[in-house]
Order: sequence, then structure tokens, then C-alpha cells
Amino acid sequence: MKTLHSTVTSCSRRRFLEWAGSALGLSAAGACAAGPRSSTQNVRPAPAVRTVLPSSSPDPWIEIDRAAFRHNVREASRLAGGRPILAVVKNNAYGLGDRAVGPLLVDFPEVGGVACVRVEEAVALREVGVTKPVLNMAEVSEEEMEVLARIDVHASLWLDDAPERVDRVARRLGHPVPVQMFLDTGMNREGMPYRRARPWLEALCTRETAKVEGTYTMFVHELEFDREQLKRFQDIVTWARTRGLSLGTLHAAPTFELFQLPQAHLDMVRPGNALFGNYPGVEGMHALADLRPVFRLRARVVRVELLQPGESAGFYRSYVAERPTWIALLPIGRTDGYPRSATGTCEVLIGDKLYPVLAINSAHTILELGREKSVEVGDVATLIGPDDPSILPHAVADKTGLSHLALIQGMNPRLPRRIV
Ligand SMILES: *Cc1c(COP(=O)(O)O)cnc(C)c1O
Repeated sequence: MKTLHSTVTSCSRRRFLEWAGSALGLSAAGACAAGPRSSTQNVRPAPAVRTVLPSSSPDPWIEIDRAAFRHNVREASRLAGGRPILAVVKNNAYGLGDRAVGPLLVDFPEVGGVACVRVEEAVALREVGVTKPVLNMAEVSEEEMEVLARIDVHASLWLDDAPERVDRVARRLGHPVPVQMFLDTGMNREGMPYRRARPWLEALCTRETAKVEGTYTMFVHELEFDREQLKRFQDIVTWARTRGLSLGTLHAAPTFELFQLPQAHLDMVRPGNALFGNYPGVEGMHALADLRPVFRLRARVVRVELLQPGESAGFYRSYVAERPTWIALLPIGRTDGYPRSATGTCEVLIGDKLYPVLAINSAHTILELGREKSVEVGDVATLIGPDDPSILPHAVADKTGLSHLALIQGMNPRLPRRIV
């Protein structure tokens, strides 16, 4: 078991930030307590010593299941006919932690690279040792484009003045900027609108300041319109070929089209959800692939007590024991990512038994054990995980009125991630 908290020392982080941040005029000197700080630097020093949570700590943690990710990546690769996977780890790896999940995913040969949506995520991925291609799928400022280029992350382009921006950044860097062109084929969220994309693409593909790594689009997840979007994309690709323009690697398919639209698999597929164990939200998808839950939300029991009839537990006396009843306390709550609506609807697994949830506060959860004192202080409790059907991520999401995505995106980024 490896606790990721401890893998990056503040000093190596400082060196990295100095390197990546020089373009922004940032100083990372304050990120390490070693060495005096200049009074002009308004950067707060981080503690010199980072404490590592011992595995005996009762505090909650997230277990990242490497074998489950391994399995889901194989399933995605099979659906994609063996094409490489650009694994989406945006939004802090859908809540599970990009510093843990990014390096784990790029270890698999089927994964050709990773994609994120924030410069800070791209920096974090390089920081933890991801060396495969990284794509940042968001428009960025020129300063950020320079930061991305310094760590060899592909910036996405879609603004009309992107060619001039790239020229300026390349001039400052002294070398071409690695970029991908994001085309809007009808979603009207992000991308260069396909109707005016041709001269813009030509301007980018023909300048020495841009190193064109790829071209991509995003679908709306409505099959008939997806096909129209794909046609718009392919018309542009065909046009570019006749002009001798190289658009780089072509990709378009997130999870929904990975399952539903093989014609859209192009050079590479671009799923996130599927890798995290989540199927497209339409009928019949479970027959096409076997996706597994990839994490556990856990904490240890910190208190076991016997309530007498008439005694209550929690705020507002919301639970009153009718008979002698054992209860247990877990040091995990709503702010950790366990939804408040799990009260009265969900159960928690300790050993091989499930116990109903009586109350959830910001940092506490109270369980009803029943007549028997069947658990001890220090026992490991699993609130979400693959170990019983009633605590599967999808089951907890259903019972708490959330989507799978919303449930996992709610995991507190500060919880230690342990890869098992
Ligand atoms: C989120 C996202 C993906 C991945 O989508 P999933 O549904 O999680 O597979 C792919 N491409 C873009 C541009 C995205 O924003």
C-alpha cells in the first residue's frame, strides 16, 4: 500500500514550480521552508515537515483499485478495436485524485496519453511523473500556453486569433508550441465553429510556430446528431488532406461514442467515465462491456457504545433507541464526500455485515449495530466499494439521489489516496 501524500517532497515541488512557473513570473521560493525568503515575495511558506498518515489512522481514505482500472482499460481498448486510449482525468480524475490515477493509468500500454481541463492539472500530472502525452482540453491564456509548452503539454486552440497567439508564445519560447485544434461540430460549447474552421486550420497547419499534434471534436450524445457531427468533422479532414495539411492525431469519442458509434473511434478514443466504471446512461450498455468499480471510501470505527431505551444519538434527537442498541461512530462525513442523503437510505460494510446509517454530519457518521456488539474500535468500515452490492458506487448514488459522476466527483481532494 502506498500513500500518495508522501511521494512528492516540497523541495522537488519547488524546483518543478520554478521551472514551470518562470513564464508566469511566479516564484516558488516560498514553497519550501529551506532558505531565506525575500521580503518582496508574498508567498506563504509551506510547513517544512509533511506528516504522513499512518495506515492505522482512523481518518477516512480512498483506496484506488489498480486491478479494476487495469480491467476497465482493457475493456475500453477492446471496444475501441485496439486503438490507443487518451484517458480523460479531468476534474481531479473525476474526483478520485489525478496525482494517484494519472500515473497509474499511463502505466498501461493501451493508454497513449491523458487529457485534463486545467493548467494546474497538467502541471500536477507532470509533477507526479507522467511522461506520456498530456492534452489540456481548455482554452488558455498566452502565459499559460507558455507554461504548458515548457512541460510539453498540448494546449487546445479554438479562438480566432489562436495563430497570432501561438506566434507570440513560440517567439518567447524560441521553439514551436505543441497544440491541438478543437473543432466545434455543433455542440456549441467549446471549439472553433466548423463553418469557419478551414482558413483557420490552414493558418495553423502552415506556420512553423505551431507543432500540430492533433485535431478533435466533442459529441452531444444524441446518436443521430452525433453522426451529423462526425460527418462535419470528416468533411474537414478530407478537405485538409486534399490541401496536404496535416491535422495530427484525430480523436472524438468519449465514453458514449466509444460504446455507441464505432465510426467515431478515428485514430484514438477519449473516454473518462468508462475507465472509472461508469456506463453510458442508455439501455443495453452492460451487455457490451464489463466495467468495475475502481475505488473504496473507507474509515475506521472510533467509538462503540450501548444506548439504553429512550436514549438518542446525534443532533435534534433525530434517532431514539427503542431497545438496548449498540451504535458505532466513524470519523467521516458529508465534507469527505459521503452524501448526507445516505442517512436512512444506505448501509456501511464492516467485516461481512452491513449496518444502517443513523446520522451524517460534516465529519461524522453514526451507525446502528443492533443488539450485538459486533464491531470494535479500529475495525475498517467501507462506505462505498465493490465488496457488497448495496455499497457499489452505483447503488449508493441511486439511494442518495445522485448520479455516479456526481457521487465520485464529491470525494474530498484532501483524503489520502492509497493504491491497492
Ligand atoms: C469529459 C470529456 C471527455 C470524456 O467524457 P466521458 O463521458 O467521461 O467519457 C472527452 N472529451 C472532452 C472534450 C470532455 O470534456
